[in-house]
Formats: sequence, C-alpha cells, structure tokens
Amino acid sequence: MVVPQERKDSEQGIEDMINLSDLNEQSILNNIKARYARELIYTYTGSILVAVNPYRMYNIYGLDMVKRYEGRTLGSLPPHIFAIASTSYTKMMKATENQVIVISGESGAGKTESTKLVMQYLAAVNKSGNNLITEQIVESNPLLESFGNAKTIRNDNSSRFGKYIEVFFKKGSMVGARTQEYLLEKSRIVNQASDERNYHVFYEMLDAMSDAEKAKYGLQPASKYFYLNQGGNSAIAGRDDAENFRKMTQAMDVLNFNKQERETVFRILSSVLHIGNIYFKEISNENNDNTVELGSDAEIKWISHLLQLSEDWLKQSLTSKVTEARGDRVYTAYNLDQALDARDAIAKALYSRLFTWMVEKINSTTCHAEREKYTSLAVLDIFGFEDFSVNSFEQLCINYANETLQYFFNQHIFRLEQQEYTKEKIRWNHIDFIDNKPTIDLISTKPAGILHLLDDESNFPQASDQSFLEKCHYHHGSNPLYGKPRMSGMEFSISHYAGHIKYDVTHFIEKNKDTLRSHVIELMCESKNQMISQMFKDMRDRLITKTLSKTTGRYITLKPKTATVAASFGESLLSLIDTMTRCNPYFIRCIKPNTTKTAMHFDESVILQQLRYTGMMETIRIRKMGYPIRVKFPHFIERYRCLLLGAKIPARELPNEVCAKILVTQGPTQADQYQIGATKDE
Ligand code: ATP
Ligand code: MG
Repeated sequence: MVVPQERKDSEQGIEDMINLSDLNEQSILNNIKARYARELIYTYTGSILVAVNPYRMYNIYGLDMVKRYEGRTLGSLPPHIFAIASTSYTKMMKATENQVIVISGESGAGKTESTKLVMQYLAAVNKSGNNLITEQIVESNPLLESFGNAKTIRNDNSSRFGKYIEVFFKKGSMVGARTQEYLLEKSRIVNQASDERNYHVFYEMLDAMSDAEKAKYGLQPASKYFYLNQGGNSAIAGRDDAENFRKMTQAMDVLNFNKQERETVFRILSSVLHIGNIYFKEISNENNDNTVELGSDAEIKWISHLLQLSEDWLKQSLTSKVTEARGDRVYTAYNLDQALDARDAIAKALYSRLFTWMVEKINSTTCHAEREKYTSLAVLDIFGFEDFSVNSFEQLCINYANETLQYFFNQHIFRLEQQEYTKEKIRWNHIDFIDNKPTIDLISTKPAGILHLLDDESNFPQASDQSFLEKCHYHHGSNPLYGKPRMSGMEFSISHYAGHIKYDVTHFIEKNKDTLRSHVIELMCESKNQMISQMFKDMRDRLITKTLSKTTGRYITLKPKTATVAASFGESLLSLIDTMTRCNPYFIRCIKPNTTKTAMHFDESVILQQLRYTGMMETIRIRKMGYPIRVKFPHFIERYRCLLLGAKIPARELPNEVCAKILVTQGPTQADQYQIGATKDE
C-alpha cells in the first residue's frame, strides 16, 4: 500500500523537524505528540536530539540497536540517542577532535538516563578495548548515583550534583575516564522537605544490611533517624533499595575499594545518622545565658567508636566554640541553635568530604596519567532547572548553571552561526532568539552581580541575609529581570530563561560561606582511622593555613579569606565552559512530558513551555534556513569539476568563479539551495 507522504507525516510525525513544511509552535508540538503516541520518543532538529521522557523502559537499547547504529551517519536511520553517540564517536575517530555531548533539560526530563545510555553505547562499541577499564567506567555510575542522587518532588532519582565525564580513547578503545563533580547539595544531608529523601545510600544501606551488620554499626530502621525521616515515608514506588545496595557494593569491588576503605565508608555513613540523632538540653547558667548539654551519651559513644575519635573532643566541639587567645584555649559555650548548627556542620562535612573522596578514588582507578595523549568524548549531566515552593541558595546555583548551559547552546546555535554568515557575506535574515546574557549578568557580573554581592557580604563580619537582600534591591531594583517582593519578605525573584523564580535569601550567607569550621577539620584530623584523618588533612592543606599553638601543639586557623561556594562554583563553571568550547558539541534536549512522573502522558502545556524556553522554534528556523554544509572552494572544485564536462578553466579565474560555474550546471531551480561565501578559499 502506498500512503501519501503528507498523511504519513502527520500520523507518524517527521523525524527531523527542519523538514516541517509549516513551522509554528503548534506544528512542532503536534509533531512531537504524534511521534510520542507511537512510542517514538526521539526526534531531530538537524543534529540536535529532542528526547521526550517516556517514564517507561522500552526495549530499544539492546546490543542489536548498538550494532544497527554503529558507524551510521546521523539521519540515515530513525532518530535515536545511539545515533548521536555513534556520530560523535565517529567524528572523534575521524577528525581526532575532542567531543562533548551536552545533555540539558529540567529536573526529571531524563538527562541522567540519557547519560547512562551514551555510556552504554560507548562501552558496547569499544570491543577491542580493555574490558576491565570499561567495566570500571560503567560501574562508577551506580556508586555516584547512590551517593549523589535523591528523591525530590520532581524526580525520584534526582541528581543533586553535576558531573562531567570525559572518556578517553586510544585508537577507538576506551582507555580511561575522568569525572568532575560540581556542587553536591549539602543541606539535604541534614534537612529534607516533605516527600523528599536524603541521599539514596542511607536507605539502601539500612534496607540491605543484615541484623548482625546493623548491630555492628549501631543502626536501626530509617524511620528512627532524624536525618532520614523528615520527608515522611521513605519508600519509593518501583525502586528496590536493597538491590541498589548490592549494585553499589559490587561497584565498589570493581573499582578496587579495599576492605578497609569499604568499612570506613559504612562507618562514616552510620556516624552521619548517629550525629543527626544527637539532641541537647538547654540549661541556664548564673549569667542567665542559655547554654546546652548533651541529651544522651549513646550517640556520642557510637560516633567516637565508629570514627575512632576522642569522646571528649567530640562533646566539646558540639557544645562550645574553641578559640585561642595568647596561646591559651578559650571555650565559649553554645546556645541551642549554635549547638544544632555545629552538629549539622559535622554531618555535612563528613558526608561531602566522603563524596569527594569517592570521586577521587574512582578517578584514581579509571584515569591514568598522560590523558592528553588521547582523544576524548565527554558527557555533561548536571542538575536540571528547579523551581520548588521555597527556593534557596542551592536552587540559585543550579539555575545559574542551567542558565550558563543555555547560553552555551545559544552561542553555538545562533550567535556563532550568524556571525559566520555575516563574515561570509551570505544573504541572511537575522533570527532573533532570547539572549539570556542579561540574566547571567544579573547573577554573576562583577562587581554587582547577585553572587558577587553575596560574596562581599559573606566576607563582611556584620553582614546578614537582610543586608545582602537590601544590596540586591539597591543595585538591581530597576532591572526588569529582577523582582522585589510586594511585602517586605526575605526574597527576590529572577526571570530565568526557563521561568520566573522566587528565591528566599534566608541562610544565603551561611550557605555561601560554608565555613567548615576549623574545629571540625581539627577534630577529624585526630581520628585514629587513617582514611578519615587523611581525608581531612588533605582538606586542611587545601583550605587552611596551619598555625601551631605553643600550648597544645595542634592548632589551626582558617585562611583569612577562603573561597566561598559561589566563587568556587562560578570558577568551575567558567572552566567547564572553557573546556567545552574546545570540543565539538552535540546537544540532547530532554523534555519532561508531565509533572506527575506518569508514563506516556503527554501534557501539552508542560511540553509547550519547555519547547518555548529552550528556543526550539528558533532553533528549527535557523537550521532550516541555514547552510549547514560548508565546503572550501578548492575541495569543491576538486570534487565537482567533472560537472563542467571537461570544459577548460582559465588559469586566471578565481576559485569562487569556478565554483559558481560548477553550480550553474545544476540549473536555476537549485539556485536558492546554496550561496557562495567570501572566504572559504584556503
Ligand atoms: P535531575 O535534573 O533531577 O537529575 P534528570 O533529567 O537527570 O533529572 P532522570 O533521572 O534522567 O532525570 O530521569 C527521571 C526518570 O525518568 C528516570 O528515573 C526514569 O524513570 C525516567 N526516564 C528518563 N529517561 C528515560 C528513558 N529514556 N526511558 C525510560 N525512562 C526514562
Ligand atoms: Mg539527573
């Protein structure tokens, strides 16, 4: 049966949207919808892959599919994530050009799943490679997910850190990988919103350990821990915590964690839980200042046993601040709030330090020296754009990162493309796109960008969240992208490319300073467990200048100005963009189909909003109108001079004139299909 092309298109949708005959928002939406209804979750816009999350696993990622896409050019087969991986891999091999696959989309859109699929493809095509290293690279994922992902209201497996994985190849075989982590969310370790969880690893551990193992670490069920039970019921439908624990420990084996390292990991995790259950009793002293004493000794005993720390030191650092005056130690008792803060600071430091150690450990196994000698294919999977009922400092950083990625995308797709047309003097109708540079400037430009104002305030002892907010209002009050609250609330709002977000500035300064108080580091350096003390000594070397006390012989002080979270995150983002700029990029735009995590439910308004803010219309238009294939004059002449059927080319004729002659042979109907540029002649 022959089906007219148009009817076929509207039923099945078009595989590459630059071929849409009628280009408008509704036709794009209809196209994606028609495909989704037929379980076709992938669609192209030129070389950009649009992936709509099905929330249901289809059997389309097997080895048969890897084989089908291996070595095939983009567009020769139906759209698929393996086609992007294959094209990028082939290009790396042919052009020995480093590649990056940039995966973007809001929280729950499918970035992490896509990353895994790309890695799975690379592992499968790399048959001649070293099997062990391939396995180690693949196995690093379950480990990082257990420790860095958590349930949020947006996504049951939400990445709470960003990652950039560079995979190195030698003659097409995987020889190593290096993971760079960005900004693990620390507040989650001690606080979770309703219906959310702490990091998976805690629940996995408690679900899978035998009673005897639990007894060894003094562990009880998850519901007994303050750090685990704040979000309510901890089970996630369809997620098997115990099974994931087995996968995670298997990954530890593959990645050469020795027995002692594994043991220490569980000791640290258990200690974090015990720390959360420490409570204090308020007591009034003779000056009527409220101070605290520990409510019970049980947790302290477990923690000092597990971390091999002195009980007295631990108690001291939970109840009082220690300073040094003229060589003597001075103890200032904490009030209740300060004691709770000190407690949480220890838990956050332990967990986040463990996470970084884990990434370093993985890298030490998978990444060997001389990686500059190899070509690489990198995948970027960060935390997606977020809007919660209360957005804090973490959301500002996450959304700023997404804003930066959107800018990178725009640069690549619009600005550079149009600059090239101008340079080549190509007749061209300029395409407007929503440039998000002004929002990035509002957040990060020097000296008055919001994050810089925050840094200034963070280094100023008298500053408060209130004074920071006032400065923001003062500097940006008239910026149309910035909003002040109607009432005098502790918030401001920013118009992001993906929506208007309100931020509550409470604790911004404290979170930005993230003062890993010197006493926490000092305390942990004293651990009799070599791995723990070394972790914190490394940290101390990085962060802290050591001053030896004459009396105690073991005093340290913070450097006068340690890097704030915002400053170091800003720097790492810049360096990421710098690295990516030196690679050939492919883009995967993940789309979330609905806000309820429902399988195969296509919510038009939710999808339309994402198509809008990602600039999908403009992207299709520029790809449709553009001239993506650019051949240099000499190459063109060499390849197509046969079309002149042997006609002589006078020696004085310029290369562009020769090209024009060749093109004319194709007749006037083709004349709008090409243009001759100005400089592509060497
Ligand atoms: P975040 O920014 O919160 O980390 P994300 O974009 O990384 O979000 P994922 O964790 O990749 O989102 O996806 C969320 C869920 O959607 C997955 O746990 C999975 O259930 C489902 N999902 C995503 N992509 C696919 C896919 N290709 N096939 C089947 N299910 C998928
Ligand atoms: Mg993710």
